[in-house]
Amino acid sequence: MPELPEVETVRRGLAPAITGAKITRVLLRRKNLRKPFPRAMKKRLEGLEVLSVSRRAKYLLVGLAGDNVLIWHLGMSGQVRIYKKGEKVPPPEKHDHVQIDLSNGVVLVYTDPRRFGLMDLAVLSDIENHPLFKNIGPEPLVRGFTGAVLVKRLKGRKTEIKLALMDQKIVAGVGNIYASEALFKASISPKRRAGTISLAKANALVREIKAILKRAIKAGGSTLKDHRTTDGGLGYFQHSFAVYDKEGEPCPGCDCNVGRTGGIKRIVQGGRATFYCPRRQR
Ligand SMILES: [Zn+2]
Repeated sequence: MPELPEVETVRRGLAPAITGAKITRVLLRRKNLRKPFPRAMKKRLEGLEVLSVSRRAKYLLVGLAGDNVLIWHLGMSGQVRIYKKGEKVPPPEKHDHVQIDLSNGVVLVYTDPRRFGLMDLAVLSDIENHPLFKNIGPEPLVRGFTGAVLVKRLKGRKTEIKLALMDQKIVAGVGNIYASEALFKASISPKRRAGTISLAKANALVREIKAILKRAIKAGGSTLKDHRTTDGGLGYFQHSFAVYDKEGEPCPGCDCNVGRTGGIKRIVQGGRATFYCPRRQR
């Protein structure tokens, strides 16, 4: 599933390709993805200029003339391909559900085999009140997201910190892998009750969340450079995980005797795998 860094990578690929161009044609090859397309979507989009491409949590927001916005979620398996002016667009394949043509010759093709993606039209200036966004927590990468803010949002919560970090109402877009990795770097046990995290620990955790997301975005960006397409699956920095998917291995920087301690431990929280070092994370 595309996480925040992957969606940000897609955003960075899309923004320069479509900003300033007008949508000239929209082709919908079915009536719905996860939900039906908004009523008269084709008619409402055609003719509008793209003014911005931003992101909120794991949603792309294509800002359009007249205070309109196309809300676009890539679901579990969605990919956006960008064809530049003059590039041949191949005949649609089975899972190419949406095509958007722009006045600068760019063509976007949205492919989504599992159809968990979503498109909706809304009012850009009122986006924070949209049902999808009104209960979503702060963006992790903004300056205003600090340890103090996190402590406040975790106050009184008895849930385990790993689950709290993945709760979109507390903070937006920190997925399973990034929650495990940030907790390891901040030496916090994923099982700690969220409400017991001190300000010092929260400061460390916020610092690590930002660092890890930025690193992932950078990795996605460098992958993107070598491809002409924008691909929702790009950008996981598999090779630099410290603990994720490393059950039984020694954790980096730890002198654990793996034969004695068992190394990195795997547990399941809220149905998702967590990896951590029980000796270093308290
Ligand atoms: Zn260790």
